[in-house]
Amino acid sequence: MEYDVIIVGAGPAGVSCAYVLSQSGAKVALLEKSSFPRDKICGDALSIDVVHQLEWIDPRLAADFQKLENKLPSYGIRFVSPKGYKLDLPIIKNGVRKCGYTTERYVFDNFLLEQLKLNTSVEVFFNCTVKDLKVENNRVEISTDSGVFYCKTVVGADGAHSVVNKNTIKNPVDKDHFSAGLRQYYSNVIGFNSEQMIELHFFRELLPGYFWIFPLTGNKANVGLGVPSNVVSRDRLNLKEVLQKIIENEPSVKERFANAIPLEEVRGYGLPLGSKKRPVSANRVILTGDAAGLIDPFTGEGVANAIRSGRVAADILEKALRENDFSAKSLMRYDKELHRRIWSELKVSNLLKKMAIYPGVCDFLLKKAEQNHYVKNYLHDALADVHKRKFTTAPRFLFNLLFR
Ligand SMILES: Cc1cc2nc3c(=O)[nH]c(=O)nc-3n(C[C@H](O)[C@H](O)[C@H](O)COP(=O)(O)OP(=O)(O)OC[C@H]3O[C@@H](n4cnc5c(N)ncnc54)[C@H](O)[C@@H]3O)c2cc1C
Repeated sequence: MEYDVIIVGAGPAGVSCAYVLSQSGAKVALLEKSSFPRDKICGDALSIDVVHQLEWIDPRLAADFQKLENKLPSYGIRFVSPKGYKLDLPIIKNGVRKCGYTTERYVFDNFLLEQLKLNTSVEVFFNCTVKDLKVENNRVEISTDSGVFYCKTVVGADGAHSVVNKNTIKNPVDKDHFSAGLRQYYSNVIGFNSEQMIELHFFRELLPGYFWIFPLTGNKANVGLGVPSNVVSRDRLNLKEVLQKIIENEPSVKERFANAIPLEEVRGYGLPLGSKKRPVSANRVILTGDAAGLIDPFTGEGVANAIRSGRVAADILEKALRENDFSAKSLMRYDKELHRRIWSELKVSNLLKKMAIYPGVCDFLLKKAEQNHYVKNYLHDALADVHKRKFTTAPRFLFNLLFR
């Protein structure tokens, strides 16, 4: 079976890339190892940036997302410091309150895939696990458990343990730029604020990692931990035990779980962080989303960048198809364009991650930001618009944070 482009993985990165690329008339196939709907271990928080990304792909997609059931609007983020200082950051853009959403990935990813099937002619192959890839002179050969496929270029959208990456670009898993994540769904967790904010709790022993509680519809909550892999191995943390101890013993948490019921066993997965620039293309190959390592190193958000990278990849591939040039040099335009769009925000997040190593700094920053209206207003803007985040490293902002 011959295609212009084969995309491996039907998560947000793969579906977005397929959606945009198919609009140019390219012959596209999407290979997915699961059958949908499928679960994805995640915090299930969709930032406002995700909603913007859907709008950019196709306004119809954003409009249909607004109609999607089983999603909860969440009007901001609550940060809790090691000493218990709270900072509630609502999302405010140009003076107007905005929201992100929480929705199980089982629901969201299936929504995206259904939209793809409805609006495009992309061929989707489920239960099709890619085992091996060979980049030949004039095509790529992809071996799966359902047969062999050929294409001019392959897109790796197959997540944190990407087979496409392993067989082509070979970016290594680097503990300094990787986090471990655990998730457990609960019912009957109480004490969310009236704006249904998602909550990040920074405990001393996990820094710069955190414990999260995100409210979901149906009296459910997504509860978990995200901790850098180098901290896990340095302190030999058993993350399942840490999670249990926090829920049972932490004074700021345990009463909220007094009548809570776990709905599943604790489950874990890796987060490749965008705290380092990696090569994301090669001859006839492009990596997107987690396969490219684009997760925000401070917050652990990856869905928005997965979609953004899928869009950028589609634009570059459209040009490559027009020029019939899939060489490393031609596809290098993807690395440049992607890094131009996301690197300054990732740098800010990386700086925050480095500062959050110190409990005293976390306490100071959250306490100060809560009391300082200039800083708070500024952070509202940064939450609503990723492009404004880079100004948090500007001297004026830092001066106001420290001295106002
Ligand atoms: C514990 C945890 C919590 C997180 N919380 C959040 C959060 O709250 N908000 C947020 O924005 N981000 C969060 N993230 C990050 C987010 O989940 C990822 O960044 C996002 O899913 C990346 O999308 P993707 O499309 O690149 O990959 P994925 O969503 O992982 O999709 C990859 C797809 O590829 C398929 N696949 C894999 N291998 C193969 C193969 N060999 N052949 C065929 N198909 C294959 C998989 O079945 C899957 O469907 C979290 C991550 C973790 C681990």
